[in-house]
Amino acid sequence: MTHRTDVPALGATVLGYPRIGPDRELKRALEAYWAGRIDADALHSVAVSLRADTWTALRDAGLGSVPSNTFSYYDQVLDTAVLLDMLPARFRDSDRTPLDTYFAAARGADQLAPLELTKWFDTNYHYLVPELGPDTDPRLASRKPVEEFVESAELGVPTRPVLLGPVTFLLLSKPAAEAPAGFDPLEKLDAVIDCYLELLAELAETGAHWVQFDEPAFAADRTPAELRALAHAYRRIGEARQRPSTLVACYHGALGAALEVLAEAPIEAVGLDLVAGRADLDGIASIRGLRDKTVLAGVVDGRNIWRTDVDAALAYCATLLGVAGEVVVGTSAPLLHVPYDLDAESDLDPALRSRLAFASQKVDEVVLLDRALRGETETVAEALHEARRAVGNARNAAARDQRIRARLESLRPEHRKRADYAERATSQAERLGLPALATTTIGSFPQTTSVRRARADLRAGRIDESEYQDRMRAEISDVIALQEDIGLDVLVHGEPERNDMVQYFAEHLIGFLSTEHGWVQSYGSRCVRPPIIHGDVSRPTPMTVEWSSYAQSLTERPVKGMLTGPVTILAWSFVRDDQPLGDTARQVALALRDEIHDLERAGLRIVQVDEPALRELLPLREADRAAYLDWAVDSFRLATSGAADSTQIHTHLCYSEFGDVIDAIDALDADVTTIEAARSRMEVLADLQKIGYRRGVGPGVYDIHSPRVPDEAEVTGLVAAALEAVPADRLWVNPDCGLKTRGYREVEPALRAMVAAARSRRAAL
Ligand code: GLN
Ligand code: ZN
Repeated sequence: MTHRTDVPALGATVLGYPRIGPDRELKRALEAYWAGRIDADALHSVAVSLRADTWTALRDAGLGSVPSNTFSYYDQVLDTAVLLDMLPARFRDSDRTPLDTYFAAARGADQLAPLELTKWFDTNYHYLVPELGPDTDPRLASRKPVEEFVESAELGVPTRPVLLGPVTFLLLSKPAAEAPAGFDPLEKLDAVIDCYLELLAELAETGAHWVQFDEPAFAADRTPAELRALAHAYRRIGEARQRPSTLVACYHGALGAALEVLAEAPIEAVGLDLVAGRADLDGIASIRGLRDKTVLAGVVDGRNIWRTDVDAALAYCATLLGVAGEVVVGTSAPLLHVPYDLDAESDLDPALRSRLAFASQKVDEVVLLDRALRGETETVAEALHEARRAVGNARNAAARDQRIRARLESLRPEHRKRADYAERATSQAERLGLPALATTTIGSFPQTTSVRRARADLRAGRIDESEYQDRMRAEISDVIALQEDIGLDVLVHGEPERNDMVQYFAEHLIGFLSTEHGWVQSYGSRCVRPPIIHGDVSRPTPMTVEWSSYAQSLTERPVKGMLTGPVTILAWSFVRDDQPLGDTARQVALALRDEIHDLERAGLRIVQVDEPALRELLPLREADRAAYLDWAVDSFRLATSGAADSTQIHTHLCYSEFGDVIDAIDALDADVTTIEAARSRMEVLADLQKIGYRRGVGPGVYDIHSPRVPDEAEVTGLVAAALEAVPADRLWVNPDCGLKTRGYREVEPALRAMVAAARSRRAAL
């Protein structure tokens, strides 16, 4: 192993920082640029000033090392593909500027399909999936990390460039459609490392003392070959003649076996996630390779918004003393997934505020803890004292509701179980009288400008609650009339009153807090504002009954009540960390259980409980999955099993790769499951058949993710394919997902084609 003797100290740091702008400046600039309202120079200057503000703020807060290259116009994986000249061939040979080629890969252009967008590990952030083939020929094609380093150094804040690690980059990539079977993106590892070596030499020459490679892929289970690839990559990088000191960071979980690999690698520092990956501390004392390395102890939670328990954090750091050559304090993950600044919130209850920390507050925590670790007791005594008091208060602050707790305790297995499906199916068939190949939609109808305007007007006080109600009712009545005219069998109210399927429920439930400015990037310019679950959850009044029963009053046909399931509500919120997720999910489930009861009393015969995030929360490691699926299924059943036999429970899931959760989907015991399937040509049905799934299923026959309008023949083809696997009386005909992002000009003809196809197949049965 090569030992470097001239390693500069790393210094307390964060692994990454939000980049969309404290006031979503980047979002606005991007959208203005895409719409042609500003030019590339104007966009560039917004980026320059956001970067400068971030670097100087992090330095002024007292971090010893400030990250750079964490800025991105869209996504860091796409940045890496562009850096290494690894975009698919369809994006070459055009007269677009490099910037517009970049956006074409992100968003599509003319006839060019964009790269696929998919979830980043177990977060709600989406990255663009590089498509690689044997002909992909990596080459260092951009100087972005060097340029940003120079930019920072000129401001007097020489930074630590952050690069996506070569192994994680390739593991996140997929073989291009035209690649020969068996092509493995990891075949490109050495070629990618060659590019990185060139980049590292340039960074060292330009004066960068440290770089960071991110390898979060190793928080998931990996094969021996993948672990060997990791060892190989950091041996080659470590042995480079000219490079900055190198930190390799893993986050979103424990490194497990990969920790020993990194400990043996000739690099200078390893970053550990000591929140989600605390398990790495067990047995760490026996890992000798860390003794000559710096360990960046990620004790400040980069994924959640709670203040750090300083004593616990310092204790975790203490277990590393003597194990590592040097210990510095950091965040468990990049701060990309938390909002910028708690100080932007004007309307918070002070007791709750004292329990919270957003990105800016987390930076202060890192600095404080690092100083405390270094024994600067005098300078930090007061701040530590204050932090302890806040955490002490927090322990008792989460509002507990004994009624809910007692009710949960009193629930028995029979409260999670409905009658046998056969019995339910008979009584539902009698009550609903639906035809075979029943048609329906997933819930939302297009959110038109007038719907959005009504919400904005209400918020701004331009209209009052009763005017708002009138406008929503008018919208619902239009949507019902349209569905009757199209001839759908099961109708929806269209969800015009919901800006977001989680936020809406958060605003109606006790125990949730909605922020004003707590925006977090979801992908590209898209941001979400996750609510915060801070106390026991309960439902003061019905949340959806008025809208759904109004819709039902307008038609003889059954209208589906529309709820968001407990797992999805948790997945898209910041969750309590003082109790297991399952406990919080069951509290949400009880509120939904009562809501379903009220919907039934109001005459709704069908209720759909959406769980699009069921798979997103699936733990990265196999060993943790059974426990997760246990509480996920349990909370869904708790929410739905109070329904009468004759009430039909639907669920909707938003993805087609079912493999890992297929048994759980069966265990949900919904009467009907609607799923995404149009893009994968009904493959999912074969999976369901394999496990002997016997209940209703609605594989999407209309891909709502594209503006294309399918014609009757296309839908007929998909219905015919589905009928190979599912008998007609259990097969539903519906789109892939909600229609809220589409326009009526596409939706109306598509639904007409869908209904026509279902009718003609039905006639032929
Ligand atoms: N009912 C929701 C809708 O139609 C479901 C959305 C989703 O699956 N993400 O919009
Ligand atoms: Zn969906």
